[in-house]
Amino acid sequence: MRPTRAVDTEVSYYPFAVPGPDGNQARIGGAAVGSYPRSPTSTGSIHITGPRSKDTPRLVPGYLATDHDRAVLVAGYARIRAVMAADPFATVAKDVAPLPDPSDADSIVRLSLDHGSVLNHQAGTCALGPGGAVEDDLRVRNTNRLRVADASVMPTLTTGNTAAPSMAIGWVAGGLILG
Ligand SMILES: Cc1cc2nc3c(=O)[nH]c(=O)nc-3n(C[C@H](O)[C@H](O)[C@H](O)COP(=O)(O)OP(=O)(O)OC[C@H]3O[C@@H](n4cnc5c(N)ncnc54)[C@H](O)[C@@H]3O)c2cc1C
Repeated sequence: MRPTRAVDTEVSYYPFAVPGPDGNQARIGGAAVGSYPRSPTSTGSIHITGPRSKDTPRLVPGYLATDHDRAVLVAGYARIRAVMAADPFATVAKDVAPLPDPSDADSIVRLSLDHGSVLNHQAGTCALGPGGAVEDDLRVRNTNRLRVADASVMPTLTTGNTAAPSMAIGWVAGGLILG
């Protein structure tokens, strides 16, 4: 696992059941808990499939492609199982489907790839910084009166979700524009 002191896992608790591959869990009600790598090292790719604008691109997400991401996922899963096995959850929680043992890393990764969903937060398409699309004052490089003020200027993903940082970027941008 990558040596870091930063938050590497996010655990989300949902007071409702998320749909499984067949949609059943959504109908029976319940709750759901999941975890995912907060700063994944896996990368995907996007491929042009033809010359026309209606040729949809081919997306290759590359989920859980690195040892780091798989290790973080498995550690998060083990922690969730431990929490759900402790009171008060233990007295009320019941699995709706057979789940792998926390020591069975391969099965946890397989389960996630087959039935998991993603909580990606898109950011960084106009990243700040050297070589990026915008200057430190949020001006689009080589322009004077065009600024970008949203999640797209994030040079890296935040270790929490992106709504509050996006608002902070807007707040800073307001100050920069007003001078
Ligand atoms: C389903 C979902 C759930 C999320 N949950 C969370 C969460 O729980 N916590 C969290 O922190 N983050 C969450 N996020 C992420 C968060 O909402 C975004 O990171 C954040 O809103 C990004 O802000 P933004 O200003 O960059 O873009 P946006 O909020 O997308 O704002 C872009 C705005 O531009 C407008 N726009 C687009 N095109 C044009 C145009 N041509 N002319 C004029 N206006 C235009 C759009 O209508 C929109 O109002 C969630 C995102 C999604 C999609």
